Amino acid sequence: MHELSLLENVRTILEEHAQSQHFQTVENITLEIGALSCVELDALTFAFASVMKGSLAEYAELKFKRIEGQGRCFECGQLTPMIELYDVCIHCGHFRVEIVSGLEMKITELKVR
Ligand SMILES: [Zn+2]
Repeated sequence: MHELSLLENVRTILEEHAQSQHFQTVENITLEIGALSCVELDALTFAFASVMKGSLAEYAELKFKRIEGQGRCFECGQLTPMIELYDVCIHCGHFRVEIVSGLEMKITELKVR
């Protein structure tokens, strides 16, 4: 369900851009998806076809750019890789880690006609 609402957002953004920038068709679209955003790429690909049906992006090719999770530890100040939202710092084991990247969900590239 998460994936559906995300894609409905994307479709709305595309429709708005199509009006203001005068294009009719989206040929391909790249979505940046953070590893911590809880979005499943398989589910997203599946939902894309149904959400975009009948829209200007119906035949668009969907690509992903995966952004790895990374946090900064409040305790030791170092950057630490994050696989899951509540990972601890790999340097000192502290659990207070501020997420620096990995929550992204946005359109990064768009090819239109
Ligand atoms: Zn630390």
